[in-house]
Amino acid sequence: MSTGTTLANIRNLLHQSGFKLTPQREATVLVLLENEKDHLSAEEIYMLVKKKSPEIGLATVYRTLEMLTELKVVDKVSFNDGLSRYDVRKEGAKHFHHHLLCLECGSIEEVEDDLLGDVELIVEKKYHFLVKDHRLTFHGICSKCQLKKKEQAVLDKEAAATTLP
Ligand SMILES: [Zn+2]
Ligand SMILES: [Zn+2]
Ligand SMILES: [Zn+2]
Repeated sequence: MSTGTTLANIRNLLHQSGFKLTPQREATVLVLLENEKDHLSAEEIYMLVKKKSPEIGLATVYRTLEMLTELKVVDKVSFNDGLSRYDVRKEGAKHFHHHLLCLECGSIEEVEDDLLGDVELIVEKKYHFLVKDHRLTFHGICSKCQLKKKEQAVLDKEAAATTLP
């Protein structure tokens, strides 16, 4: 699913904040948009940007990512491996989307709905804390892995049945 965030949107946002979308910054943004499902780390982004813009340095990519994070074009997120990963913010989304992390295959799915309205209200009322954003990752087993497990269970049962005396 696309975020609806485009290069033109990001260029506008940068301009409004007094930044220019230099060719190197543009190459970094393009890599983020082209791989928006992949939750890339800075090093992975750098490797891909280098293909478009071979002269670019890792420090430039880091600085661009920091700038984009400050402007809330991207969000930094980390999963089980502890690496900082970059995620393009959904256009118009007030809060960061949630993630479903599969403990079997490591896949990461995104949840578009906020779902936390009630929780946020409780937190604001009970703890007098003004909620600005949140990070939420569910750890579990994805549908594909569940299916695989079921199929394996059937195979195991069959195998057990055929080896019975
Ligand atoms: Zn995400
Ligand atoms: Zn929320
Ligand atoms: Zn899985």
